[in-house]
Formats: sequence, C-alpha cells, structure tokens
Amino acid sequence: MANNEQKRIQVAAPVLDGREREYVLECLDSTWISSAGRFIGEFEQAFAAYCGVKHAIATNNGTTALHLALVGLGITAGDEVIVPSLTYIASANAVTYCGATPVFVDNDPATFNLDPARLEALITPRTKAIMPVHLYGQPCDMDPIRDIARRHGLFVVEDAAEAVGARYKGKMTGGLGDCASFSFFGNKIITTGEGGMVTTDDDALAAKLRLFRGQGMDPARRYWFPVVGYNYRMTNIEAAIGLAQLERVDHHLAQRRRVAQLYDAKLKRLGNRVVLPAVEPWAEHVFWMYTVRLGAAVGKPRDQVIVEMDAAGIETRPVFHPMHHLPPYAGLNSVPMPHADACGADGLNLPTHGGLSEADIDRVVDALDAILA
Ligand SMILES: *Cc1c(COP(=O)(O)O)cnc(C)c1O
Repeated sequence: MANNEQKRIQVAAPVLDGREREYVLECLDSTWISSAGRFIGEFEQAFAAYCGVKHAIATNNGTTALHLALVGLGITAGDEVIVPSLTYIASANAVTYCGATPVFVDNDPATFNLDPARLEALITPRTKAIMPVHLYGQPCDMDPIRDIARRHGLFVVEDAAEAVGARYKGKMTGGLGDCASFSFFGNKIITTGEGGMVTTDDDALAAKLRLFRGQGMDPARRYWFPVVGYNYRMTNIEAAIGLAQLERVDHHLAQRRRVAQLYDAKLKRLGNRVVLPAVEPWAEHVFWMYTVRLGAAVGKPRDQVIVEMDAAGIETRPVFHPMHHLPPYAGLNSVPMPHADACGADGLNLPTHGGLSEADIDRVVDALDAILA
C-alpha cells in the first residue's frame, strides 16, 4: 500500500511565510536575543489587542503559562481545580504543580469539550477554579460554566492552548474567564517554537503574573524578591517569531478552515464509518486538529487504523488518553467518565495544518476509506 514516491503527510507543521526570518535576524544583528528587547512588548500588546483584553504576559511555554495563571489566582496546596479528563496532560499537571488536586469532569462526546451539566456535582468546599479547555480549537460552552463559577465563587481559567482566534458567541477566547493561557508550541495555531501567553482584563492579576514570571523581583527595587517566583520568561527571538505569526493569523486561520471544509465535504462518502466533528452553532472553531471518531460498525481498533495510515505515509494521532487512565492520575476520578473513555478509544486526529493541499486531503481521505473498508 505504501507509495514511497509520495511525500509523507505530517499531522501538523508550522507555516513560517511572513516576516519571521526578518525579525529573527534583527534579534541576532542587534544582539537582543534574551528576554529583553522590542519584540516581547510588541508581541504582548498585539496579542492582547487581538484577544480584546487589557493584558497579555508572554511565557516560555504553554504549560508555564497555565501554571503562572494558577499561581496568580492563588491556587495552592489543598485546593481543587475542575479539569476535563479529555485534555493534554499539561492542564492537569499545572494544577499538580500548585500542590492542588485536579478533579476530572467528563466531556460531550460530540464536541470533546467538558460537559457543563456535570460540573456542579464535582464542586466541594475545596474547589477554587474551573479550567475549561477549548479542545482541538472549539470553544467550550462558557455561559453555563461562568454561571456555575459565579454562583459558587470559583475562578474560570481558560486553557486556550489550542484555540488562538476561536470565538464563543462572537467573543474571542482569552477573554472569556478570569484569565486564559495559550501555547505557541510548534504544532499550535501560531508558534514561537516554544512559548506561551496568559491573558487577563484584571490589572492586579496582570501585575502579579509579571512579578511571578520574572523570578519574583520587585519591579521598583532591583534584586529584591518579595515572593518565590519563577523564570518563565519568553525570549526576544521567540517573540519575534510570534509577532510575525500574529501579523498573519487571519491567513493561518483561513488555511485551517479550508482544510476542515475539504475534509467535511470529502469524508461524507465514508458514511457512518466515521463521525465528523460537531461544531456548535455559537462556535467559531479554529480546527487545531480535525478530529473524527470511528463509526460503531468499524471492526478495526483505532490504533490499528493509525498503524495502517502510517504505512500509507500519513501521520495521524490518537485523541488524548483521558487523564484518569494515566499513571499519575489513575483512580483520581470520583465518577465514571464514559464519554472520555469512548472518545479516547475511537477518536482520531487527521493531518491539520495550513501546508496541506487538496491533493493531500484526497490522499488522507482515500487511505482512510480503504483502511476502513
Ligand atoms: C499544547 C497544550 C498545552 C501546553 O503547551 P506547551 O506549550 O506544550 O507547554 C496545554 N494545554 C493544552 C490543551 C495543549 O494542547
């Protein structure tokens, strides 16, 4: 089946077709390569404006952005934070880094996002925050989440790592809770290589985030450290790439929309052998990963499909293993997670990035059609 004449199709790949090279060379030529320089402030300001929030604080990756956000909100030992079981492990780990406990919630099987109807049963006197994760680029249903948080006095921290540019009822992710974190890893919507960002409208929280990001040094008194902080700073080189990426974010999002529309149209012929991703009427989905589930009648295990796609020169990925199955968190769930279990077993991420041509999409769909025959 493998055709060695054809190039391998990757599940993700960065598109660096703007001013990335020019800006990076400016860093090198000017020697501003560390965590000071014009691009950091410019990237932060441009990102805040893009998300429609007052503050954006750049970090060295998306995991430290999440941790910083929780530290800024005062999440500490003994606290509980409600996190979807179906997510990337960084969401749960950031809670663990605070000495707090992640409490897992099940998801909607059609959208993969946490199911707000299951939240309230998990709230205890120790619960301090809810962390909705906009999985694969579709925003969570934020109104009921915020309503529950308000009634119980909880913070809402968006894990928007996969959802740069996604909108909920017309409003941009990053401004839908008390604060939000983003990732600019190489496979995300926009990239800085490694990098992250925290966004918020809260002036006091923003000052706290800057303090803790910079080792805890008092901004008014050099080498005076009122708290134990972290070195979570982004470099000027990373910010240079980020600014160039953000300048073309509409182009990057349009390319992903094109890819998703081609999959939607072409996968129809597979009928009930695949379940296509559901998009909520109020959601602007940015398709970080175009994600299907294998139909109930498909006899082949998902992992076998991945192996056969790989032999056809096409990389695919399993949907995340639910957190409550992973060794660090096994058995932490207090309630059954049937939907996370099912999505984790039969969900498949197809190649999704701006560099895919229509011919590439045809190859993916043809291979899947043959493998699921
Ligand atoms: C990528 C990702 C992160 C972490 O970002 P890194 O930059 O890889 O540290 C956190 N949460 C989710 C849901 C992610 O997809």
